[in-house]
Amino acid sequence: MKTAIYKRGFIKASEYNRKLHFDNIFCPDCGKAKLKIVRKADQEPYFAFVAEQKHDGLCPRVAKPIQDEKIKELVLSDSKKDMSKLNFLVNKNLEKCINLVTKLENDGKLNKEEELNLMPQKKQQLTENRIREYSRQDILTINILDLDSIDTNVLNNKHCLIYGIAGITLSDIGESKKLFFKADQDSRFSIFVVPSQIRYLDFDKGKRAKFAVFGKFKKSGKFLNLEIRSTRDLAIGD
Ligand SMILES: [Zn+2]
Repeated sequence: MKTAIYKRGFIKASEYNRKLHFDNIFCPDCGKAKLKIVRKADQEPYFAFVAEQKHDGLCPRVAKPIQDEKIKELVLSDSKKDMSKLNFLVNKNLEKCINLVTKLENDGKLNKEEELNLMPQKKQQLTENRIREYSRQDILTINILDLDSIDTNVLNNKHCLIYGIAGITLSDIGESKKLFFKADQDSRFSIFVVPSQIRYLDFDKGKRAKFAVFGKFKKSGKFLNLEIRSTRDLAIGD
């Protein structure tokens, strides 16, 4: 891991300063579990968790990601029930990510009225009862800040959720649109939105915001893309 939370911001392992940061750096996702620096010969320094540290309940690092084969099955299925299972899983995970970032912004507190709710409460309960098998499972979730330190080749063609805070810009590519997410120089990816998906896109200019998006990871050369089912699998905060 190359990024950690220090006070209210992020630091890179290369910026680690013992005087400032020792015993004072935390999980880049939830800000709760403590990190330490690891330095090995012939290797860039990186962060690792101090043993037996507790993460926040919303932290993707404690989640149990569902197998990609299972998601593929749901994505390719024609059945309405499978579609609603997948939508439940996606919405639940989008909500979790946005809520986690909101919580971090509020020093660890999340008020009820600030929670993101993508499904009406009643429908959510109905769906939840029907598909209890998925209520304890999560989609593989990646903080955009980790894109520069994880092996993205392994992710190619797999379904995942990317989230975090990024500068988001929208541009035209012929009839389609391209959404570009950039957390920093090394952590970025794009999404292409085809004309049939544009009507769901509630975004018209660039801004820095929290976001979460579900899709299929595509790597071509050094470019990282996420192939989405529709823009309903994208949540952008205020
Ligand atoms: Zn954590």
